[in-house]
This record gives sequence, structure tokens and C-alpha cells, in this order.
Amino acid sequence: MMKIRNSGLKKPLLFFVILCAVNEAFSQDPDMYTNATFLKRLNKERSFSELKKRIVSASAKTPAGNWGEFVTGVDESINTKNRIVAFTFDACGGKHGSGYDKELIEYLHQEKIPATLFISGKWIDSQFTEFLNLSRDTLFEIENHGLNHRPCTITGQSAYGIKGTLSLEEAFDEIEGNARKIEAITKRRPLYFRSATAFIDEASARMAMRLGITTVGYQILSGDAVPFVQESVIEQNVVNKIKPGAIVIMHFNHPEWNTKEALEKIVPKLRKMGYSFVRLHDFKLISRK
Ligand SMILES: [Zn+2]
Repeated sequence: MMKIRNSGLKKPLLFFVILCAVNEAFSQDPDMYTNATFLKRLNKERSFSELKKRIVSASAKTPAGNWGEFVTGVDESINTKNRIVAFTFDACGGKHGSGYDKELIEYLHQEKIPATLFISGKWIDSQFTEFLNLSRDTLFEIENHGLNHRPCTITGQSAYGIKGTLSLEEAFDEIEGNARKIEAITKRRPLYFRSATAFIDEASARMAMRLGITTVGYQILSGDAVPFVQESVIEQNVVNKIKPGAIVIMHFNHPEWNTKEALEKIVPKLRKMGYSFVRLHDFKLISRK
């Protein structure tokens, strides 16, 4: 049996090992990170509450600006002429959006297709183990889809029947709250944010920018979220509109949708056209307006 001698060198080492183990155990305890608990805890942290005060007061006189999917401050594609395309998959969470499309993720693996996953705090709460597994998977980058999957606005606009945030403070919690939640669990701060439904106002996009976060929309809407849409329609939406550097929006939280079935047709076609697949963080993003 290994004996730990009571030497001056080994005591701090043992303490460090225990500390790491405790830290690791905490970062994997889902109860520590449920949205309500985590946000309450964050608001007690000075680094969060003071930043919120500072950012909100710096943005206080900013008008809401335009509201939509392609407003100023949102990037939609990769700045390139090369035949690359970025598949992005959202996981929205909530009552009707907390599923996990395991077959789709397995397909991406089988085909070695890197992808960007935009994940909400709500989805993490219901799929904590899957979230941990995905965050350790080098094929994917985990990005921010908002804490409670609320479209970010300072005036309470709605999109697709989902009520948006009501103020700068709420938009801050939605964006920065989930960035910190993902970082606390995975030890990596997300670089990108996609607002719930991809709708956002310009004031919220500017606030994200002040936080060092790039807001990402899309150039190609796959349409996988349209009720009962067939795989051939999703396939046409993507293949017919493909362009170098396009960011494609899809979902991996609805195994009953036809996203994976469509991808099985899209991927060989795009490969034949000379396209390869990339994640966002290796490239400069631009707005195509
Ligand atoms: Zn969503």
C-alpha cells in the first residue's frame, strides 16, 4: 500500500489533489447548476453583479434598435471564398424542447463532421449527463443559446410565441448567465451566443459585444423546426442555398424531427460539390448585409 509520509512537500500536494477532486465533483453535480439556483448564486457574486451594473448603466441610453434575425451586431456567415460550411445545431430546452437526438450526434461522429452546438441552460438542466459527454467531445464546440431560452430584447418582444426578455438586466442574465453556467461546468467560456429563435434586438446584440461575446444568426435556415416537414424539404433548403462560408441552423433536441434523415442526404451532396465542414471558432465571422 502507498504510504504518504508526513513531509513538508507531500502535505500541500495531497491538499491540492483533494481540492481538485472536490472541484471536479462539484462541477459534475447537476443540482449546483439548475438555472434558478445558479442565477441566485451568480447574483451574490460581485464579479457578476458589478459587471451587470456596469454594463447596464453603460447601455442605459441605448435605444432598443431593430428587432429581428439579421440586425446590426449579428454575424451570419464565415468570411471566406472557400467551400466550407458550418453546421450549427440548437438545443432549446423547456417542456417541448428537451429531447436528445442521439442518432444525429452518432451520425456526425460516423461521418467525422465537426459542428457547433448552441445549448440553453434549460436543456442542460434536463440533459446534464449528455451535456457533459458532449462538452468532452472534441468534434463539437459548445456555445450559448441563452439561460432560459428567451429571445433577447429590452422591450419584451416575442418571436414564434416565445416571450422575450423585458430589460437590459434580463437580457444580461440570459446571455452572461448561461455563458458562466457553461464555463462553470465545462471550464471553457463560450465565444458565441445565439438568441432563442435567433431573434434579438440591436441593444442586446451590442451588450453581448461588450461582454466579448459574438452573436450568431444564420445564413441558411434548414427549416427542420417546421412541424412535420419532410427530409427532402430540409435537404433542398440547405443544398439549393449553399454558399462558401454559410452557417446553417438546425436542431439536435428533437429526435422525432427529420434533421438526421435530411443530413444523410445533404452531406454526400455537399461533399460532391467540394464542401467540407467546420466549426465557427477557427474563422472570422461576418454579417452579410
Ligand atoms: Zn432555440
